[in-house]
Amino acid sequence: MPAKLEGYSITVGIEVHLQLATTTKAFCACPTTYGAPPNTQTCPICLGHPGTLPAPNRRMWEYTVIAALALNCKLHQTTRYDRKNYFYPDLPKGFQISQRDIPVGYDGFLEFYADEEGEKLVRWEIERVHLEEDTAKITHEEGASLLDFNRAGVPLMEVVSKPMKASPQEAYYYLRALRATLLALGVSDCSMEEGSFRCDTNISVAPRGAEMGTKVEIKNLNSLRAVRRSLEYEFQRQVALLEGGGKVEQETRHWDEGADKTRLGRSKEESADYRYFPEPDIPPVYVSDQWVEELKAKAGEMPLERIKRYRGLGLNHFEAVTMAERPPLADYFDRCMSLLDAPKLVATWVVGDLSALGATAGLSPAQFPVEPQELTDLLRMVDAGEVSGPVAKEVLARAWESGEAPKTIIEREGLTQISDEEGLVEIVSSVIENNPEVVKSILAGKDKAVGRLVGEVMKATKGRANPELVNKLLAEELSKLKE
Ligand SMILES: [Zn+2]
Repeated sequence: MPAKLEGYSITVGIEVHLQLATTTKAFCACPTTYGAPPNTQTCPICLGHPGTLPAPNRRMWEYTVIAALALNCKLHQTTRYDRKNYFYPDLPKGFQISQRDIPVGYDGFLEFYADEEGEKLVRWEIERVHLEEDTAKITHEEGASLLDFNRAGVPLMEVVSKPMKASPQEAYYYLRALRATLLALGVSDCSMEEGSFRCDTNISVAPRGAEMGTKVEIKNLNSLRAVRRSLEYEFQRQVALLEGGGKVEQETRHWDEGADKTRLGRSKEESADYRYFPEPDIPPVYVSDQWVEELKAKAGEMPLERIKRYRGLGLNHFEAVTMAERPPLADYFDRCMSLLDAPKLVATWVVGDLSALGATAGLSPAQFPVEPQELTDLLRMVDAGEVSGPVAKEVLARAWESGEAPKTIIEREGLTQISDEEGLVEIVSSVIENNPEVVKSILAGKDKAVGRLVGEVMKATKGRANPELVNKLLAEELSKLKE
């Protein structure tokens, strides 16, 4: 960090709006399917017709309570909805059903590693977790404003963090950990592209030891990288402003991804008076102890526990985090582990080759054409030295394409590793005989050239030779020539 920035501290607050993974909307039975043609998923309730009566979705409550518990929040046993009144074209009934005074959860925290090495464990404080409904979507096309009400009334959970003295880097890891937690709970698909995980941040900068500075909000953050970059940019912009004797204005800024900077949006109006009042059409919701216990029992292993468990098995932090952030991949790994107790070997292949094949094909681990049983059959052969690494890699790719079991391919085509000395000595000798120039340079002291002979042996055996044995035999045969 440049010396000038050292003298300042940052305070960061983060609000995340999550679309809950319910199949129907918050207060009506309309579906929530993403990408449906505009205005095909509506009814008089979510269109805000007068005289209609909203009925809360039980699943949305389960998801929010379970998330609040995972975020170590306290729960309000009796909570209610409030109407947030404002007029905007995306809100035809003139108010949004939300929660102001009594959120579902409050005073929580999330612990996570805020580095790539897994050494810095930090805690981010969470102010509240509450429910609200989404508004319609406005798009502007050829001078017209178009409204799509499919999104109106979709259940949203808002997770608001406390203002934290933290770096942009920590904010980035907080969001990764939050996302991983909600994915593990299965309460949201957390897709930033489809708008089911939306972040707004605010940042204030002040000389170290001084009171908190002026809060600037940042919107339009389309990726976790954008969150980190925008906070880094704002920190530098505000420090430069203060150093130059200027004053930071309270305002909303938008992240411009292409320009890699924030731009001024509208200036912050005096805290808008939304005239909240309790929603009169929905009775208060009671969260019983029994319900809480049932939901607690449903929550599985959380990402931090998973990371610690995997590291305990000997995986490195990168492997542990990669899987903890992708619960279906971690589930795949766990299924493999129940079949073959070789954590490091299995993780290397699951996080490496298998994930790469999945990414290229655009498939989630539940759709992988190679089953855990088939992968572990292959890895058992690798572990026993029956198949070489390069052959296994190629066979896995072919199995992925054809749907055949890797073991079937190996057996049919006789691809097992050649580990018998007699068979290999002959090949090694003929490679030495056919490459006199290479041999000459090795004997003249260029030891590295041995690699070329190893390559020739591998070529002759179609990658099936045991590399350790090849090296040993080459060394033996070459030393005979030196004498
Ligand atoms: Zn509806």
